[in-house]
Amino acid sequence: MNRRDWLRGVLVTGTGLACEVPAVALSDGDHCHWQTAITRLKLRHTWTTTMSSSQYRDTLSLRLSAQGITGIGEGAPIVRYKESAESARDAVESLRPFLLSADPWQFQKLITGVLRRLEGQYAAKAAIDIALLDWAGKKFGVPLYRYFGLDAADAPITTFSIGIDNPETTRAKVREASAFPVLKIKVGLDTDEATLEAVRSVTKKPLRVDANEGWKDKEEAVRKINWLESQGVEFVEQPMPAAMLEETRWVRSRVHIPIIADEACLSAAAVPHLVNSYDGVNVKLDKCGGILEAKRTLDVAKALGMKTMLGCMVSSSVSVTAAAHLSPLVDYADLDGNLLISNDPYTGVQVREGKLILPEGPGLGLTPA
Ligand code: MG
Repeated sequence: MNRRDWLRGVLVTGTGLACEVPAVALSDGDHCHWQTAITRLKLRHTWTTTMSSSQYRDTLSLRLSAQGITGIGEGAPIVRYKESAESARDAVESLRPFLLSADPWQFQKLITGVLRRLEGQYAAKAAIDIALLDWAGKKFGVPLYRYFGLDAADAPITTFSIGIDNPETTRAKVREASAFPVLKIKVGLDTDEATLEAVRSVTKKPLRVDANEGWKDKEEAVRKINWLESQGVEFVEQPMPAAMLEETRWVRSRVHIPIIADEACLSAAAVPHLVNSYDGVNVKLDKCGGILEAKRTLDVAKALGMKTMLGCMVSSSVSVTAAAHLSPLVDYADLDGNLLISNDPYTGVQVREGKLILPEGPGLGLTPA
């Protein structure tokens, strides 16, 4: 995809109108060129969790050009952490002098500098990290999984997520997801039993459940999880609010399936605090700030004997493929954010009978859709 095509694909946020807008370029002669834009991704279905409901998502797109190579990055802002595509773009632009003076070969040093300089703004950090590692992988001439010494054959299956909806639409979504051997069901509202019954009326597949902090009472959480155990559910993600560590520990001692931390686990530093309350962690590039910090978070969790999972936000193949390159490291993957949109600008990681198939091209291995 050339620059003109890329610009044509980006949309102005706020007005809801699609149009071509000038991307913001940070450049320094021949040395380094960083370009930000906001991309509006259209959802195939209105997406509802306990946190929000929407028909589109805006992400920050980033291009780093240096020494004849362009690295592509993306960050999907998380509303829970008060981020937006605009705040992510502004955060990248606030680093203009630092980014322009940096050498992309020193990507580890550069990312450490970015993490230190930016308060919050994990989507912006992730976009910078992904663009840098795509650039470096292209320079090295190897796909990122190979740079990390991983075997693409170890990539796990990914779940396909079913957002909260009425029983009829839930059944239709489950039928549409027939290619996926394991489904992830969003719960956490007072419709949980109806949702699970709708799913179970059309499939016997293993299920994983994500409550997104939806159950506020520990006895209610135990009751719901004990019932889910009887419904063929493999694990429950974030049953209670992230701050309720002690209550989650109490719940964990009374249930039989693993409890996975998502909202409670932002990055590597959080993991040691979770070890008594959770069995595993769900790591996302947009929570922790990119591929390098995600790898560190997975390493800490593994060192502490916890189960590991890679998840994603609704995003294009840029961000999902970036996470997929680490997927040979994890027990579980939920990398379907690109499959939930209808205007993905790139092709990257593929899914075959549920299994993640990593691209073989250098860096992220993306090609224009
Ligand atoms: Mg989750």
